[in-house]
Amino acid sequence: MNVIHLQKALAFIAKGLVEKEKLLKDAPNRYPYSRDLQRGINMFLAACLELGCVGENAFKYADESSFLSHYICKPICEWFDDWDKDVLQNIKIEEQPFYAYGPFAFKRGKTDLYTVTEECVEFLNTQESNIIEGTDEHALYEKIIQLSQGDYVKVRKYIIEHPVITIEDRRTFLSEYADNTIAKDALNLAYEQFEERYTTCPACGWTMVEKEYGPSCLSEYCLEHLPPIPNEAWKDASSEPIYRLKKGVMRYFAQPGKLEIDIARYCEKHALEFSLWPYKDRFDIEIRFSDGEVWEIDAKAYHNALSLCSKIKQDGGFPSGNYRYGFYVVPSEYTRNKINYIAVVNKTLTSQPNVKCVTLAAIKKKINKKVGELNG
Ligand SMILES: [Zn+2]
Repeated sequence: MNVIHLQKALAFIAKGLVEKEKLLKDAPNRYPYSRDLQRGINMFLAACLELGCVGENAFKYADESSFLSHYICKPICEWFDDWDKDVLQNIKIEEQPFYAYGPFAFKRGKTDLYTVTEECVEFLNTQESNIIEGTDEHALYEKIIQLSQGDYVKVRKYIIEHPVITIEDRRTFLSEYADNTIAKDALNLAYEQFEERYTTCPACGWTMVEKEYGPSCLSEYCLEHLPPIPNEAWKDASSEPIYRLKKGVMRYFAQPGKLEIDIARYCEKHALEFSLWPYKDRFDIEIRFSDGEVWEIDAKAYHNALSLCSKIKQDGGFPSGNYRYGFYVVPSEYTRNKINYIAVVNKTLTSQPNVKCVTLAAIKKKINKKVGELNG
């Protein structure tokens, strides 16, 4: 057994938690049993036993509910509190990519329900593809890549700009693409029917619903500065069903997509030559300045800088190409109160000196500066 095993255990736990949440959504009255979660728990406890945990955790927490109540609301570093210090030093625990993550779930109100955190989902998204394949966003990417370049841009933009659509919207889309099975499949992979009482989330634009423990949306970040929601803002989709983006699609397709479109609009406003998704999913935006200089931009919506670092590593760095500069752009608000965010990511980019991570606000400034220089 080694430290890779430990990372796999955590990956299965994260995957299992996400799966449980999905099962619960589909069948609220059945216990959401996830084999992956149990597999992850077994792997973690086996590691406890073998790698010198001084407690008796392997026996105490073997069943799912005692494991969850003991571990799942604690930051990952605290999962190792009762491990032998020498063992932890040997496996260089502090350098492990999972060590600095926050809790994978939090408890809502007085219920027995756990809600998966953004940290957990981001961690999961940085794992090997055999673990994340099968996710909704993965399936959607695999599908739209088969579209022609022109349709790719149109369909991707549509999905990003429409987190929620009516039956009528859907019909219009399907008739517009009547002869295009791939586009129709993509629509069906992206959206799910929704029939609950909801309001449009002021933070992300998705469907915010009222649970017994309070409002619930895409992630806990939506609730951070939630203004009071007036009564008339609530809509009842049970009488008039709508379609909304599936959660994973909203989070990993539409959220970074908003950045991409924001930058595209900025380029448009400054009359710059640019293209959105020029080689499908290789780059998000390519800007060609009047002196011939090319910048490539890849938008990333990760709250945790370490998740972004892992993702970059997994992708093998910024894609190669004929550009002067490459930029990973993150939402400015994700770096608020996290002064090290940009520095942490840039530290992993040292082998590509012309590639930097910047916020949305910073890339706009850089574009502005460049335009200023060109205009003399
Ligand atoms: Zn939201």
